[in-house]
Amino acid sequence: MQTEYEPVLEQADAVLDEVDAALVRLADGVYGVCASCGERIADERLAAAPTARTCGLHAG
Ligand SMILES: [Zn+2]
Repeated sequence: MQTEYEPVLEQADAVLDEVDAALVRLADGVYGVCASCGERIADERLAAAPTARTCGLHAG
């Protein structure tokens, strides 16, 4: 069923996936580590984007 809320719900679903992935990294002990260079992600970046997978240098 297509509703006006569908895009919003799809976005929320994507956010949940991000959070799930972040929790997995937390459990694996690699949370806050850049997936590209392996460097620690800055605390201020994690504060702004808790599900960030990469450091500011490798973002986007
Ligand atoms: Zn990096």
